[in-house]
Amino acid sequence: GLVADLRDAQRRFSVEFSPAHDEEGAQRQWRAVERLARLRPVFASVTYGAGGGTREGTVELASRLAARTDLRPVAHLTAVGQSVPQLRGVVRDLLAGGVTDVLALRGDPDGDPRAPWRAHPQGLQHADELVRLALAEGVRSAGVAAFPLGHPESRDLDEDLRHLLGKFAAGAGFAIAQLTFDVEDFLRLRDRLAAAGCTAPLVPGLLPVTSPKVLEVTRRLTDGHEPSWLQRRLAPFLDDRGAFREEGVRLALEDGRRLLAEGVPLLHLYSLNAAGNVETLVEELGLAGPR
Ligand code: FAD
Repeated sequence: GLVADLRDAQRRFSVEFSPAHDEEGAQRQWRAVERLARLRPVFASVTYGAGGGTREGTVELASRLAARTDLRPVAHLTAVGQSVPQLRGVVRDLLAGGVTDVLALRGDPDGDPRAPWRAHPQGLQHADELVRLALAEGVRSAGVAAFPLGHPESRDLDEDLRHLLGKFAAGAGFAIAQLTFDVEDFLRLRDRLAAAGCTAPLVPGLLPVTSPKVLEVTRRLTDGHEPSWLQRRLAPFLDDRGAFREEGVRLALEDGRRLLAEGVPLLHLYSLNAAGNVETLVEELGLAGPR
């Protein structure tokens, strides 16, 4: 299963896609999917809702990955704007499409991380409940989100850790950490989990910031926590696309090497629906999976 594969030292990366917004995007994405499938990632995750594309798009893309490629899809799923019966329906649709693993998230109101959270009146309040729902419907594994700097709604890191442990107690098999450019922040979260006796795989994210546009995406993926040194380090290259890309890749390679040396189970690579940057990282870091 997925969680066992996360512990397999020969398997060293996963990749993330988002449902495309139009037909042209979908075709471009599929070409990237086919190229990246050849590198044999442990899993390919598909984002869900709001910033992550439509819900139907997630079920469709994840099912397509299951049916037409060797990739193991992990479908993100959120509790936003859906009743419990609707959520059960989404999980059943995923299972019917051959998608057996999910990343269970609470989500943000209409994709706005700053708006106050309001559960659907017949819905769920937190991700731990969604973990239970998905497992009860028969998914093989449910992963969850973890926050190296704490979730913005948590009072402090202790409270944040308690709730993360609550998600594992609900049956989560692994966690993907929110993207961070400070490896130390990730390692501190890993230490807190270990100190609490939790041995579930915690996967760090890695995004090569290869253009000013990607730098914008970074702000969203880190809840505005992208470090000021990242801006400073990339600022000299704003007028030179090639040099900017090189520096972005160099930065990601530095973080990737450091994380691998620290013994992380694997690196979760954000593809932004393109293959090139992921291929570069996989090649330079030697991440391709076993045949
Ligand atoms: P929760 O675990 O429910 O946590 C939310 C807050 O409530 C935290 O402060 C937590 O400490 C607290 N809490 C948790 N459990 C309890 C409890 N039982 N009782 C009281 N308080 C509790 N969003 C999308 O819309 N689509 C995506 O595809 C997507 N993918 C993501 C992938 C990753 C790797 C990450 C890190 C985030 C992703 N998100 C996505 C964003 C995510 O939905 C938001 O960050 C959301 O605000 C929190 O989701 P969560 O699952 O951590 O929620």
